[in-house]
Amino acid sequence: MAELDKSQHEVAVAGDWTYASAPESRDIVHIADRYGHFVGGEWLEAAETYETIAPRDEEPLSAVGQGTAADVGRAVGAARAAYADGWSSLPGSERAKYLFRIARLLQERSREFAVLESLNGGKPIKESRDVDLPLAAAHFFYYAGWADKLEYAFPNRRPRPVGVAGQIIPWNFPLLMVAWKVAPALACGNTVVLKPAETTPLTALLFCDVLRQAELPVGVVNIVTGDGHTGAALVENDDVDKIAFTGSTEVGKEIQRRLAGTGKKLTLELGGKAANIVFDDAALDQAVEGIVNGIYFNQGHVCCAGSRLFVQESIYEPLVAKLERRLSTLRVGDPLDKNTDVGAINSAAQLEKIRELVASGVEEGAEIYQPPCVLPEKGYWFVPTVFTNVAQSYRIAQEEIFGPVLSVLTFRTPEEAVEKANNTPYGLSAGVWTEKGSRILWMAQRLRAGVVWANTFNRFDPSSPFGGYKESGFGREGGLHGLEPYLEFDE
Ligand code: NDP
Repeated sequence: MAELDKSQHEVAVAGDWTYASAPESRDIVHIADRYGHFVGGEWLEAAETYETIAPRDEEPLSAVGQGTAADVGRAVGAARAAYADGWSSLPGSERAKYLFRIARLLQERSREFAVLESLNGGKPIKESRDVDLPLAAAHFFYYAGWADKLEYAFPNRRPRPVGVAGQIIPWNFPLLMVAWKVAPALACGNTVVLKPAETTPLTALLFCDVLRQAELPVGVVNIVTGDGHTGAALVENDDVDKIAFTGSTEVGKEIQRRLAGTGKKLTLELGGKAANIVFDDAALDQAVEGIVNGIYFNQGHVCCAGSRLFVQESIYEPLVAKLERRLSTLRVGDPLDKNTDVGAINSAAQLEKIRELVASGVEEGAEIYQPPCVLPEKGYWFVPTVFTNVAQSYRIAQEEIFGPVLSVLTFRTPEEAVEKANNTPYGLSAGVWTEKGSRILWMAQRLRAGVVWANTFNRFDPSSPFGGYKESGFGREGGLHGLEPYLEFDE
């Protein structure tokens, strides 16, 4: 026995358990030097371009078209022609075939899309590979299933398509937002003009190649790139029948003002400041994972991020200790590294906004915790951050930071938790952690949020409607509800 002990002591044990780097190859992706706009199935040369970059190291990736009102006009013309030339009257079962094809092509080319998404947007490859791409394909599969069942979905209401949909999307889930917008619109027989976000146009442009492979009739989907002016031109185009917008509350309000009285249909998916509420009977280790996933997933660039953590007072200290310990194990760095948990901030402007709000938190008196973390020298980075000692009136408890920053507050009773959670202009999502099913239902009835997760967070499914209350917008995407904004009814 003594000998065995001795030999065990001689076994070499590694002292350093840090992960070796595991970079995903980017060879699978071809990026053109220059892109125009995808209009009527062809590439329209852009008169003006801007540079799109990789936020991880500011590497220029390509020159992308800055769409003018005239470009938008041509795209809307192509969409109108495709609508009239047969797409809107195609049997649903035929439209479904195209959607199924698009879904399968996205699955086949998922690695290529995932690498490009992480390169252009900064999110970790394990997220684009395991979340964005599977969900984007799932959305097309799901809405393909509805295309020939609209009469059953809305019995006795005789649904028909709206016409040309103008769709404006943000930079946090570039391809997934394409899927959320395009799939239901096409399933209902509409045609589309879509504007991707200025900083993340590349996967939407690669998606045009999927449309070509799927042999989608020309003009059914058109993509015009550019900044907010291009988006505004789409909103103002008289021949657009419906606008679907995802982005900031500020721009959403502006769009609503512009469309007032025009008769155009509108859906707005805007910001959020979600409450993630942990009761003292919750499984704490699971809750900690849910909190981390809730706020550090996609660097916190998530409209439904659990950015306000409400902890029942009796478990405040152990929970915060566990959370801070877990934070120190998060790996921040190269988005293309398969081990990375937290990638790059999407843009210099967004990094500046996060810094400004974090500085306000310190100034107002909150206590900041950031784990030791070596950040890359180039690119846009922010250390995962927790604020404790936060008052409800602080800006970090009121405003959407859209970064990896969590504000921790406390409560004593369920009633207090509900009151504090609802004390925000937003109402997009919420999370409840408790072992009592009855308490989950009690809370879900009282929380003013479009989605309430129980003992989990940031779970998405194409069959589940998603959308907000109050300043988080109106209209739903996903599920049966997601069809309705793309339909008119002869009742
Ligand atoms: P925006 O709301 O400005 O952008 C969303 C989309 O709208 C983009 O495609 C944008 O183009 C376009 N756009 C901008 N101005 C107009 C306009 N006047 N008319 C029509 N379209 C327009 O969000 P930002 O990217 O500027 O981010 C600002 C803040 O918004 C973030 O810090 C975050 O708090 C919040 N946000 C919330 C999101 C959500 O999902 N709820 C998503 C993104 C941001 P362009 O990209 O060129 O600006």
